[in-house]
Amino acid sequence: MDPLVRDALEVLLVIAVGGILWSAIGRLRRGEVSVVRCPSCGRAVSRAYERCGHCGAAMDQMDRPQ
Ligand SMILES: [Zn+2]
Repeated sequence: MDPLVRDALEVLLVIAVGGILWSAIGRLRRGEVSVVRCPSCGRAVSRAYERCGHCGAAMDQMDRPQ
């Protein structure tokens, strides 16, 4: 492959990944992605999962942080 084309693709990839990360950070800052703490082990767990990824406690036992 032409090294110039490869470099251009790498730049595009970096821009794409950077954009994804930036939008994720923006959502976190606006609080759209809520992080809750597991009542059993106290670790941060995503609401996207039904169970705590650390100790397996059911998600419906969890409360939002005050
Ligand atoms: Zn847990």
